[in-house]
Amino acid sequence: MLFVDSIIRTKGKGNLIVISAPSGAGKGTVIDGVMKINNNLWLSVSMTSRKMRSNDIPGETYFFVSKEEFEERIKEGVFLEYAIYNGNYYGTPKDKIQEKLDQGIDVILEIEIQGALKVKELVPDAIFIFILPPSMKELRRRLVNRGTDSKEKVLERFKTAYKEINEVTKYNYVVINDEVEKAVSKVNAILLSERCRVDRIEDVYLDNMEEEIHELLVDKDLDNDPIEI
Ligand code: 5GP
Repeated sequence: MLFVDSIIRTKGKGNLIVISAPSGAGKGTVIDGVMKINNNLWLSVSMTSRKMRSNDIPGETYFFVSKEEFEERIKEGVFLEYAIYNGNYYGTPKDKIQEKLDQGIDVILEIEIQGALKVKELVPDAIFIFILPPSMKELRRRLVNRGTDSKEKVLERFKTAYKEINEVTKYNYVVINDEVEKAVSKVNAILLSERCRVDRIEDVYLDNMEEEIHELLVDKDLDNDPIEI
């Protein structure tokens, strides 16, 4: 489908956006905020073999399956990418993604780094955003304050985060989540800028406008509105 703006015709395809962050950086909150102010977005729902948590909603936060079912899906070629993270499978089903992109809707994949790097190989022009906490001290504070994990789990998450942060240079953009509102508007600004890229133009669309342009050139109003030099 082609989208005709007045002067240009854009390719009309949505962008594939990959967002990663170490746990505790507040990625979920930032993405929720962006989804609220930007209605041209679709957040992909992943499949996982991890256990459901109390705040999970099946089919909304994840599609929950057993390890065996997940392995079946891998064989069937259901996933764009998948990875094992903390001993569980996580994967992005590819079925709806192309459909949304073809409708001109931007698709967000909220995935960890191994998966993001696989997407980078498959779709090099996807947009990669990394969300960081303002400091390691603040990250540790946020992990402890969650209050859902044991001390060992907090330290394990903290160490994983430390390793993950080193991968930031493989991404196109980095957003520090010091204040949620600021981080939301930065991510939204990235999405809006990406939609304005010149390489999204299919055609400059002046051919059918010759008559209109001619009229504009001979516009009598210009005589009444002299151009001052
Ligand atoms: P959690 O278990 O806390 O929901 O997620 C753990 C990690 O898995 C997070 O970093 C999350 O972004 C990532 N994740 C969620 N879905 C996918 C997916 O489909 N593929 C990959 N590679 N990672 C995912």
